[in-house]
Amino acid sequence: MKLSAEYLDLKLRHTFTIARSSSDYANNVLLRLRDGRHEGLGEAAPQRYYGQNQAGCRRTLLKMGACLKDADPFDLERVLDGLAKRFPKEPSARAAVDMALHDLIGQRTGLPLWKYWGLDAAKTPQTSFTIGIDTLAMVRKKLEEAERFPVLKIKLGVQGDMEIVKEVRRLCPKKTLRVDANCGWSVKDAIAKAKILEKLGVEFIEQPVPPGQNAKLKRIQERIGLPLMADESSLTPDDIPPLRGCVKCINIKLVKCGGLRDALKMIHTARACGLKIMVGCMIESSVLITAAAHLTPLVDYADLDGNVLISNDPFDGVKLDRNAKLLLPNRAGLGVRER
Ligand SMILES: [Mg+2]
Repeated sequence: MKLSAEYLDLKLRHTFTIARSSSDYANNVLLRLRDGRHEGLGEAAPQRYYGQNQAGCRRTLLKMGACLKDADPFDLERVLDGLAKRFPKEPSARAAVDMALHDLIGQRTGLPLWKYWGLDAAKTPQTSFTIGIDTLAMVRKKLEEAERFPVLKIKLGVQGDMEIVKEVRRLCPKKTLRVDANCGWSVKDAIAKAKILEKLGVEFIEQPVPPGQNAKLKRIQERIGLPLMADESSLTPDDIPPLRGCVKCINIKLVKCGGLRDALKMIHTARACGLKIMVGCMIESSVLITAAAHLTPLVDYADLDGNVLISNDPFDGVKLDRNAKLLLPNRAGLGVRER
């Protein structure tokens, strides 16, 4: 197989602000894995928060190319284990290779990935639409743009954030609301805010405190009525068993865990631990979003709107119906093609 990697700069429709950062672009990397007459697509979304960047990620992918030269796409276990040992700190780059291999397997067998896995495409959930941190005036504007989405995920974790949720609830009395503090609260904040959020009919709270503090998550969860979801605290399958009793749900992202194969391990581990599951995303094109969408018949919630938040997605893959339910492509492999 022959690997090539190019920069993929995605432009956000609005400056995207969360508790710890703000950005206008996502600097991702597109991977092409050529295998005879087939080409597998992959995408990495390097995260500064995890010590990654676009140039380093592309270099890593080119190094991975040498390991893939004589590999067979069906050798997933051996190839991906080898990459995990050699590049343990590069889950986003490994995810790109993992999804390109899955794309090739689908193309070789002539089956969409979800069908190859034996999943029921009718079981996909709706995706939520994310409202980043902003002024109340901008939040109102974003809500107009988000009209077709019945489920909203509101980014919190800054001073005055309860005013944002109250305004969203006032303007959208019927919508399902979820919130994500992105590690921005203390235990005390989280317990106090959860009471307000519960009254506002919020469905769950994502990552109130920073990772590495499961005991704090447990203290919060034991004192509030709403379910907590771990995101920054649940990167890989090994993170899940210790979260039992600390949260009720976990958020799985391909770029955190290293790809579809480890995401499947996370899904089975979470189920065995009695946890609910969301599949989420970063700011991503339809390559990464569509790859992640193939997993969603197995989970409870989806937050796969990264491709909707950008204005220059070069790809076409998973689509949404009138209620923002994910519609998986019927084409072989990931089912992604260039626009
Ligand atoms: Mg999150």
